[in-house]
Amino acid sequence: MNAVRGRFAARTVRVKAPGKVNVSLDVGPLRPDGYHSVASVYLAVSLYEEVAATSTPGDGITVGISPDSTLDLDGVDIPLDERNLAYKAAALMADVSEHSTGVHLDITKRVPVAGGMGGGSADAAATLLACDALWNSGLSRDELAQLAGELGADVPFALLGGTAVGLGVGDDLSPALAKAQMDWVLVTAEFGLSTPDVFKTLDRLREAEGLEVDEPTAVDPKILQALRSGDPDALSRVLVNDLQRASIELAPTLRDTLGLGESCGAIAGIVSGSGPTVALLAHNPEAAEGLAEELRHKGLTALPVHGPVPGARIISDTLL
Ligand code: ATP
Repeated sequence: MNAVRGRFAARTVRVKAPGKVNVSLDVGPLRPDGYHSVASVYLAVSLYEEVAATSTPGDGITVGISPDSTLDLDGVDIPLDERNLAYKAAALMADVSEHSTGVHLDITKRVPVAGGMGGGSADAAATLLACDALWNSGLSRDELAQLAGELGADVPFALLGGTAVGLGVGDDLSPALAKAQMDWVLVTAEFGLSTPDVFKTLDRLREAEGLEVDEPTAVDPKILQALRSGDPDALSRVLVNDLQRASIELAPTLRDTLGLGESCGAIAGIVSGSGPTVALLAHNPEAAEGLAEELRHKGLTALPVHGPVPGARIISDTLL
């Protein structure tokens, strides 16, 4: 515990971590363990979650949502107890840290909840890094990535950021050297989709069609080529998301959103992960701004973003 002349000295470490878009997502058959193998290209985008971790006396963990959050969280279900992914991350770090204190986690939510962009996973990655600093755990990035994998399939990527290929359940990550900026418009929905429900729907659709798929083992190299060369037209031809039709089955309005995006000038559109966020590809930042503006006029919530951006990083460390 930090103590100054017998008094507890609180410290706040603030970390930001990005949401992600799956530029490609191939999904294998349901495995006997209930999971699905995937082959995916992850892209970290400039929509960030922030976690401020403040040390508290004792050893408790508390979670709050910051009023600075830009999402309308009315009626949105974010558990603030041990079910919260940030809570789980802090509990895991406390287990492996010798000198943990209590901690309060104040989360600024910007990534849509249950939106298919890994917002909860970004909170978990940010919390791991914040608590590592707060408790001087001194873990390496590899050790943090190992802990991240225990918290959920998308957590290691939120820690890593950039562009990466994900195999296994998505947590077997290889960074891809693709730094060229791509511009997108994210269209967020007023509802969420449960990731397990979307996977179940895909299994059901495939079964009804008698469609048998192989285990995915690699991503299409054309996707990485397009990302490396920064050629959005080439990328638009290879965007793929096996979950998209399952998300549309559960939320048919997503088809309209994709159609509207393209009619307003997007080069291509894709449901992000399990949805319902839709990612629309634009030629450049100005085109993304213009597209977002036009979609907002039509009543949609549209945010221009770019990627790749770095993974979780500390933005301040203050002794209070
Ligand atoms: P993924 O694609 O990784 O499933 P997602 O972006 O679709 O992620 P999240 O926003 O991460 O979905 O959250 C899904 C559910 O997890 C929420 O409905 C909520 O009940 C629960 N949850 C737990 N911790 C958090 C958190 N820190 N932020 C948001 N939701 C959380």
